[in-house]
Amino acid sequence: MLADMSSSLHATTVPTVDVAIVGAGITGLSIAWHLVRRGLSVAAFDGRGIGSGATAIQPGGVRQQWATAVACKMAREAFDFYGEIGARLQPAVDPGMTACGYLFVAQEQAELAGQRERLALQNSLGIPSREVTPAEAGELVEGLDASNIVGGVWCDQDGYFDRPLAVVGAFHDAAVRGGATFHDAQVQSLERDGDGWLLRLRGGSTARAGAVVVAAAWDTPALLSPLGIELPIEREPKYLFYSDPIRERLLEPLVIAPERHFAAKQLADGSVLASDLGAGSANRPNEHREIWHSNVRRAITELLPILEYVSFPVLVEGFYDVTPDRQPVLGPLDGHDGLFVAAGLNGRGLMMAPTIGRVLADGVVDGRTDDWIAPLLASRFADGTLTPELQVV
Ligand SMILES: Cc1cc2nc3c(=O)[nH]c(=O)nc-3n(C[C@H](O)[C@H](O)[C@H](O)COP(=O)(O)OP(=O)(O)OC[C@H]3O[C@@H](n4cnc5c(N)ncnc54)[C@H](O)[C@@H]3O)c2cc1C
Repeated sequence: MLADMSSSLHATTVPTVDVAIVGAGITGLSIAWHLVRRGLSVAAFDGRGIGSGATAIQPGGVRQQWATAVACKMAREAFDFYGEIGARLQPAVDPGMTACGYLFVAQEQAELAGQRERLALQNSLGIPSREVTPAEAGELVEGLDASNIVGGVWCDQDGYFDRPLAVVGAFHDAAVRGGATFHDAQVQSLERDGDGWLLRLRGGSTARAGAVVVAAAWDTPALLSPLGIELPIEREPKYLFYSDPIRERLLEPLVIAPERHFAAKQLADGSVLASDLGAGSANRPNEHREIWHSNVRRAITELLPILEYVSFPVLVEGFYDVTPDRQPVLGPLDGHDGLFVAAGLNGRGLMMAPTIGRVLADGVVDGRTDDWIAPLLASRFADGTLTPELQVV
């Protein structure tokens, strides 16, 4: 998939375009597609290759169960888009969305009370999640030891793409068909240039654009800081254990146990993914691997004994681009005409990509931002009006 997309990469002589996008992960690709279909000329730049950042690591999870209205609305819009991905993007490879369901379990009443609050919010926004008793949870998830939970919340629309890179390829190919160009080039700096922007590229060449969208994940602050824009987006390591592929189907839904910082799911290729969700902070995988592994094993014994004999020989490292309130940073940058940001995805870039592309295209083309997106504007950090998202997995 990545090799196919690299064939669209151009040398770095770029005609002036309406919009330049820095970063060609799933975020930049969705924005590129949304912009070309609105009639703008687009050039996207990536210094490490299309889809080579966090986009290459994500296993394809798509959920609507969030704790803030803004995240729920973004997820709902994206879910509707992905339901029509064939008609919208004409993917070369069917990404195969499987609505396996996500189950958040609660082991204590305090956790269940929090889940009920989030459930009420989700339902008020049209998300069909529902509370389940331990017995119902046990029926939904074969192999769950329901005697160790007090309840949970389930959404049967949540699921996984069987082939997540086919989604990445679909946005890329559709953007190219619409006229977007992709350039194998690291953007070293952005400068105001008359009514537009000048991009200085590694190797000495330059490019010009009327507007720029920076979608460079944790590298975004380094590009914007010289312009006096300080964004608190940081790189946070995340770790996933994988088993070898297993022929027998053991665990269809994704099960998340927030109190154990644990999540597990069997993917379409048969491999079982399991994570100590607290593993991100340590950032010393070799030193901490055994601790994370025993945390995962303990949660499996307690909650998913069906996985007792599954071994996890592979540990994969990836990075979230995180913000203090665990919300993305989207939209125009005040005081810098024609400069936009789409970064700080906090672990939800694939599942939110269609909405992010649409929101950014509205901002660039019409100068418009939906009112409900206000909690995601960069200005919130200076205003102190943060809307923390608690349901980050
Ligand atoms: C372990 C793990 C599991 C995950 N699971 C899921 C999941 O199930 N579902 C989900 O929705 N999300 C998931 N995510 C999150 C998801 O992967 C990210 O949110 C998403 O990929 C972010 O996409 P992006 O395009 O914003 O960033 P990236 O994919 O990181 O792309 C940013 C790009 O910018 C380029 N770049 C940076 N600086 C420059 C520069 N100066 N010039 C040119 N190019 C530049 C980089 O080379 C990179 O390609 C997971 C992430 C991890 C780590």
